[in-house]
Amino acid sequence: MNTIDLIGHTPLVQLQHYSTDTVKIYAKLEMYNPGGSIKDRLGKYLIENGIAQGQLKRGGQLVEATAGNTGIGLALVATYYNVDCVIFAPEGFAEEKIEIMRVLGATIYRTPKAEGMIGARRQAQQYAQTHGAYYTNQFETLDNPAAYKDTLAQELIEAVPTFDYFVAGAGSGGTFSGVAEVLQRYGVKSVVVEPTGSILSGSEKGKHDTEGIGVEEWPVFLDASLIHEVQVVSDDIAFHHVRDLAKYEGLLVGSSSGAALEGALRIAKKIDQGNIIVIFPDGSDRYMSKQIFRYGGV
Ligand code: PMP
Repeated sequence: MNTIDLIGHTPLVQLQHYSTDTVKIYAKLEMYNPGGSIKDRLGKYLIENGIAQGQLKRGGQLVEATAGNTGIGLALVATYYNVDCVIFAPEGFAEEKIEIMRVLGATIYRTPKAEGMIGARRQAQQYAQTHGAYYTNQFETLDNPAAYKDTLAQELIEAVPTFDYFVAGAGSGGTFSGVAEVLQRYGVKSVVVEPTGSILSGSEKGKHDTEGIGVEEWPVFLDASLIHEVQVVSDDIAFHHVRDLAKYEGLLVGSSSGAALEGALRIAKKIDQGNIIVIFPDGSDRYMSKQIFRYGGV
C-alpha cells in the first residue's frame, strides 16, 4: 500500500447527540484522508487524470489556486508522481494549511486577501501561460465533480442503502455537484450549505470566517436543478457547532463541518423520519492559529 491508497473510504458515523429514533444523521469524516481533508480525493483525481490525458507528465509541473485543502491534496499526491506543485493562495486563510503544503514540497505564492479566490485564480492562470505548467483549474474543470462520483458518492450508497437527504457545503461546488448528480438517480434530495456572504442563495458576495466554503461566482459545473435547497449559515452558528461536536460527539472538525451540520439539523426539524448524510470535510487542528474553539470571544 502507498500513502495515496489511503485516500477515500473514510468512516461514516451516526451522530448520537443529534439523531433521534426516527431521524438519523450520519457524518462522513473526511479528515481521515491522509492529507486531512476531502480534497485529497480531488488532488488524486486531478493528477491521475491529467497524466492519463497526457496533459501532465511525471516530473512535470502543475499550478492551482486554493485556500489550502486542495493544495494539500495536490501536493501530497504530487510527491508520489514526482510532480512539481505551484500554489497561489490568498492571504487570510489558516496558515497551518500553507505550512502543510510547504512541507509536502509545494511552492507557494500568496495573493492579496482583498482579491479573494478570483485574484488567486487569475494569477495561477497567468503562471500556467508563462511557465507552461498544467493548470488543474479546480473551479472550472469537470474533473472536479467527477472526482467524487466514483468515490465519495459510491461509498455513501454502499454505507447507507436508503437515505433521504445529502447535505454538503460548497466552496468550488465540486463535492456537491459530483455527489448530488449520482444521488439524484437514487431519489436522494441534495441540500447545499453556504456561509452568509456566498452567492448561491442569490445574495451579494461578502466576507465570512467559515473556511473552505463560500462561492464568489456560480460554479460552471453546478447544475441548479440538483439543488433541493440552499441553506445559508452564519459564522457564529458554524463555530458554535464546532464546539458542540467536540463536546457531544468527540468529533474535532473544521468550521465548514459546523455549517454543514446546521444544514442537516434544519432538514431534520422539517421531517418526521428519514436518514440524512452530511459531509464533514476536514478537522479542527489546521485552524488552531485562528482560535477555532474560541470564535466569537468564547
Ligand atoms: N470544506 C473545506 C474545509 C474545504 O476546504 C472545501 C474545499 N474548498 C470545502 C468544504 C468545499 O468543497 P468543494 O470545493 O468541493 O465545494
